[in-house]
Amino acid sequence: MGDIINGKILAEDFKQKIKAQIDEAVSKGYRVPCLATIVVGNDGGSIYYANNQKKLCDKLGLKNRSIFLEETIDEKDLILLIKELNEDNTVDGIMLQVPLPKNLNEEEITNLISPYKDVDGLTDFNNGKFYKGKKAFVPCTPRSVMHLIKSTGMDISGKNAVVIGRSNIVGKPVTQLLLNENATVTVCHSRTKDLKSVCKNADILVVAMGKPKFIDDSYIKEGAVVIDVGTSSVDGKICGDVDFDKVINIASHLTPVPGGVGSVTTTLLIKNTCEAWEKNVY
Ligand code: NAP
Repeated sequence: MGDIINGKILAEDFKQKIKAQIDEAVSKGYRVPCLATIVVGNDGGSIYYANNQKKLCDKLGLKNRSIFLEETIDEKDLILLIKELNEDNTVDGIMLQVPLPKNLNEEEITNLISPYKDVDGLTDFNNGKFYKGKKAFVPCTPRSVMHLIKSTGMDISGKNAVVIGRSNIVGKPVTQLLLNENATVTVCHSRTKDLKSVCKNADILVVAMGKPKFIDDSYIKEGAVVIDVGTSSVDGKICGDVDFDKVINIASHLTPVPGGVGSVTTTLLIKNTCEAWEKNVY
């Protein structure tokens, strides 16, 4: 039986440091950091993440401006809102929950976020710097994935890593971060032939498909580290892409859902907000 990678415990270390940093700044008379979270429409995942951000901001002493907008909002009004938040000196980070409703131009709108407030690394500016190996805001979910893998003590260099999913917010940046650590990376997607045999060769398997319990033990190499990014809503509950009860018997380490990737992701978003705030207030 493998070990469960507990994202909640791993996030705790970051949280304590963030809280101490804010408490110290406040005692010196600085304003607290502020994260603005924008949700457009009724996407269950987006509302879930936004509520988690608010809870964590409250807990750690940040301000959170949660802005919930109707799916029917005029694109011009959303653009205006982002421009106002960009110019507002009391807002340090802007988190626009994606996907946006289909009637809005997601690519154009995300790129309006100031790169200095783009705490989830959505803009082309930050993406370009990241893929060139320069300092930038990197999407928080892929960073969380790397943190969870490293927490197992595994030396990533030279390992076979398989990433299922090639989205811009998860699959591609995870692939780049694994490459940065000298893993040999294979990226799989819906057209991949014989997914099972590719996965069976993985020392590290990162699953970001959005298909509840798709990956069972027949996909897993014995002793692999398995990171489940999936968060589908099934019967009102959040469910991962990995069949936890089967895979835990063969993997050396596995993340649960919830309590795995997502726990660290939100904390890293707050950490990025604090980094943006430091540049604004000091
Ligand atoms: P996405 O944009 O829908 O991408 C899904 C990827 O999975 C695509 O590349 C798709 O291939 C691939 N895929 C789908 N079915 C497949 C199959 N049968 N075999 C192989 N590959 C398949 O999703 P995403 O935004 O990357 O998110 C993935 C999951 O992670 C979702 O459940 C999402 O809710 C979750 N998520 C969690 C966090 C967190 O912090 N925990 C953050 C973000 C996302 P094609 O490219 O060929 O279509």
